[in-house]
Amino acid sequence: MRFLFSKQGIMAMLAVVVLGGGWLVLSVGKGTASVPVVVPVPTSTGAERKVIGQSVEGCPIEAYTYGTGKKHLLFIGGMHGGYEWNSVLLSYTFKNYLDSNPDVISKDLTVTVIPSINPDGVYKVTGKEGRFTSTDVSTDKAVLASGRFNAHEVDLNRNFDCKWQPKSTWQQKTVSAGSAPFSEPESEALRAFVVDQKPDAVIFWHSQANAVYASECEQGILPVTLDLMNVYSKASGYTAVKSFDSYAITGDAEGWLASVGIPAITVELKTHEAIEWEKNLKGILAVLEYYAN
Ligand SMILES: [Zn+2]
Repeated sequence: MRFLFSKQGIMAMLAVVVLGGGWLVLSVGKGTASVPVVVPVPTSTGAERKVIGQSVEGCPIEAYTYGTGKKHLLFIGGMHGGYEWNSVLLSYTFKNYLDSNPDVISKDLTVTVIPSINPDGVYKVTGKEGRFTSTDVSTDKAVLASGRFNAHEVDLNRNFDCKWQPKSTWQQKTVSAGSAPFSEPESEALRAFVVDQKPDAVIFWHSQANAVYASECEQGILPVTLDLMNVYSKASGYTAVKSFDSYAITGDAEGWLASVGIPAITVELKTHEAIEWEKNLKGILAVLEYYAN
């Protein structure tokens, strides 16, 4: 199902599927597989599945939304694709948890999970679209490192509109930040979703720095961002760090959110493998409680 929206793909099959509740989904795909392209779709678990954009290679970028409250919290995994595949599995685990425990979302809240914002990067190391398991993941270090980038070899977390430069850094390496802010379809999909939905807070999962970071752009750290960082840190046990200063970063998504007045934190898991579910569930529930009051 690569190049899903190629001419052949669209010509190959056009099916209409009627789901429970009378919602219509148009599915386009080759062979026996199909991917819904019309949104929104209420799933059997109560989440609304929305495709917010397509990756460079035509993979759907999915958002699952729960609840209808005024305060909207957004959780995002997989910005660095297959290189940080545990952040994707953590996001899917959180989605499963919400499917089974809808009562944790109070009437004041809406929660959206985007499990895999860089699906092409995940595909590079798992060979799978959408959900995968740890046994699908390549153990080749070069393959894993290449999975950090999208299919244009761009580091998506350098492609946002905060101090953007065409080249940026990752540890001691120079990485491409795209041809302009939001030049990549994955970052543009997130930008459009944020502009449309105006979330009250955004939590990104990455790995492997074992800490929770605040965010800032030209105007410094938003006060509420420090509260969000501290709430997650205290409940989860990850150390709170106000400013990432290991090396200079430009064009990060968290910084862009700060620049448009939206608090965002980055939760860095300890390793590139474990999802540390118990710790993160505590952090998540503390944030839900903080915003419910
Ligand atoms: Zn990362």
